[in-house]
This record gives sequence, structure tokens and C-alpha cells, in this order.
Amino acid sequence: MSTQHQIPSYLTPHEVGPWAVYLEQIDRVTPYLGSLSRWVETLKRPKRILVVDVPIERDDGSIAHFEGYRVQHNTSRGPGKGGVRFHQDVTLSEVMALSAWMTIKNSAVNVPYGGAKGGIRVDPKTLSRGELMRMTRRYTSEIGIIIGPDKDIPAPDVNTNEQTMAWMMDTYSMNEGRTATGVVTGKPISLGGSLGRREATGRGVYVVGCEAAAKRGLQIEGAKIAVQGFGNVGGIAARLFAEAGAKVVAVQDHLSSVYHPNGLDVNQLLAHVAETGSVAGFPGSEAVLVGDDFWGVDCDILIPAALEQQITEKNAHKIRASIILEGANGPTTPKADDILRDRGVLVVPDVIANAGGVTVSYFEWVQDFSSYFWSEDEINQRLTRIMKEAFSSVWHITEEKNVSLRTAAFIVGCSRVLQAREVRGLYP
Ligand code: GLU
Repeated sequence: MSTQHQIPSYLTPHEVGPWAVYLEQIDRVTPYLGSLSRWVETLKRPKRILVVDVPIERDDGSIAHFEGYRVQHNTSRGPGKGGVRFHQDVTLSEVMALSAWMTIKNSAVNVPYGGAKGGIRVDPKTLSRGELMRMTRRYTSEIGIIIGPDKDIPAPDVNTNEQTMAWMMDTYSMNEGRTATGVVTGKPISLGGSLGRREATGRGVYVVGCEAAAKRGLQIEGAKIAVQGFGNVGGIAARLFAEAGAKVVAVQDHLSSVYHPNGLDVNQLLAHVAETGSVAGFPGSEAVLVGDDFWGVDCDILIPAALEQQITEKNAHKIRASIILEGANGPTTPKADDILRDRGVLVVPDVIANAGGVTVSYFEWVQDFSSYFWSEDEINQRLTRIMKEAFSSVWHITEEKNVSLRTAAFIVGCSRVLQAREVRGLYP
């Protein structure tokens, strides 16, 4: 996959990781870009990468060092925008791919941002709250030279939340000598956060899921749903589908997979996870699925809402769902995409399906600039409208060009970025 590409010297050529997946997706869209393909190399290399050392004093007095990244993939259409992830498996390749998917996503739903992403290679569960705060603050200070309300705006991602954003906002503000609420989104409401932001990604997954189901003639009421990842994305999406009458039959997280053929009680499961940190041991489950059984579960809609490269050529043939909604970023490999396409499974790609989060981040940023805050209804209505419009324009291209929804979303996303690139011209 990687060999036909010029791999940047700072990645290990034999282990290009998620960046290779992204490059393959770009290859697939290139034939549809017309004269703009002249600029496509722009998308195959991040604009700017910052690798930082993040030292902290541990509670026991020892010093620990963590590796942190902020990658600004593209800023042709506006400032960088994208989350910050704390995870033990974070790599530069992963952050590069995630930043690139932000570029495509922001462009596909037409919010005026480029794409960026950050991360620290750390298992946050091994840190105390104080250690987590010191790590977050030091990381923010280190990347402070390239972020800012009109430069690059971080947000939550895997294992980061409103508290993380409050610390980031405070650290940046202290260094700047002014309160800069617009430097991050996904903040607490008391600090210029937006109503509806926490639920936005899951809500967006639900909205496009309803649109996709309508295209396939599938009723949400009674539909069987399986969800991988029960955090801010999977948990909220599951709740909204359950409220609409769907049956959430299987949920997998980092520890276990719970199953009930008549539907799990999502509210009880959310309460169990809030209390214990996992779906494991949920009393309302009829069975625990082991190994790869989760992927073969009988369902209509499958929502991968955890990490990248979960649906691969190894499990794609087992999937029984007719619709996949990518709540996670990059959960499906290109080979799995081909298998699913041949089998007639409709994959609503990440860059559309999970764009609700960054869309409400955009609303938050706009509200911070004007210091005027909207009602939750207003936010949800605007979010729903943007998600539906994005889905429908991508659907139109899918039909017109007979391509997958992913390639169609990339056609829309890449074309807007490269049009901006072309009209701005090269400097100098
Ligand atoms: N981390 C989220 C994503 O992957 C949200 C990013 C943002 O709000 O900037 O889309």
C-alpha cells in the first residue's frame, strides 16, 4: 500500500500506519479531481508538524517524559482545527492521518477550517488528576507557538474532555496575558463552551444514520444496532437510536462486548459505564461476545466509534449490518471498504458521519468571538441542517459518479481545499 508513495523521511517506511490508509484514500479520489489534481500532492504531506517533549513531575517526585504532537495538515480554507488525543498507542503517523481526515471533514461539511490534530503518547489512566493537569498544561505551553484562535483550535478527542479543554484554555490564556476562550472548543459551558457540543458527534452520527436508513428503506423503529466504543460518540449515538425505537443489541468497549437480542437498556448501560468505567459485568446483558463474534452479530446498523483500522479484510466479510456509520475516525481499511462495497454494505464515512462534533465546535468558536450564545434548540437545528445537507450532496455524487460514499465525500472535501489552494496561489 505504501510503496508507490513517497513516504516522508520522518515515518518508518515499513510501518506507515494510518497515514498509508489516508494516502490510499487520496489515490482513489484523484481521478475524479479533474484539473485540480495538479495540486493533489499538497494533500499528501502535512503543512507543519511539531513534536514536543512533555516532562512532568510525578506525584512521587520522579520525572516522567511523554511525546506529544500537533500536526497542521492544511490551512488553505482557514485555521487548523481538530482534537487532541491521549492514548498509549498514539504515533506520528496516526496524528498525521487524523489531521488529514480533519481537513477533508471540515471541507466536506463546509466549515471554514483547515485540518489539524494533536496527541500525547500516554495512557491517561495511569496518571493522577494532578499529573494529568500538569501534562496537559505543559503540552499546551509547548504547542502554544503554533495554536491560537485564528491559527489552530484544538478540541477533545479520545480520552480528553471538557476539563482538558479548560486547562488548555487557561494555560494558553496565562501565557498570552489575556483570556482567550476561542483557542479551544469543547470547553465547559461556564467557560464559553456551547450547549449541545458534548452530544454533537453522537447526534451527527444519529442524523446521518437516519438519512442513510431512509435511502435503504430501513425503519429506525425496531432496527438492530451494534456499537463499538461507548464513550462520547458511541454512547450518545446509541442513546439517540434507542430513543427513536431502535434496539441496541451489542456494545463493545476496550474490556468486553455485551449483547442482548431484544436490545440492551441503553440508559442503564450508560449508568453502569459511568460507575464502573466499562460495559463489562453489565447485569442487563444476556451474553458476552468473545473474540471476533462482535463483528458477526446480527444487526442492521453497525457503528464503529472507537479507534482506527477496526474493520479490516479479516472481519469485513462477517459483518451482517447493511449500514455502517463511522463514528470513529478511520475505522475501515481500504481493503475492507472494497469487501463491504462488493457485499452491498453502505458505509457512511467518518468525514461525514462524525462531523457533528467539529460542526458544533465551529458554532462554539463563532459564539465565543461574538460573545453571544445560542439556545440548545438553535444549535441542534443548525447541526441537523448541516449534517443533512452534507449527506445529501455526497449522496448525489455517489449516484452521479457511481462511487462509494467515502470517495464522494473525498471528492467534495478535496475539491474545496484544492480550489482554495489554487486561487490563493503559491507563495512566493
Ligand atoms: N475530535 C473530533 C473529531 O475528530 C472533534 C474535533 C473538533 O471539534 O475540532 O472530529
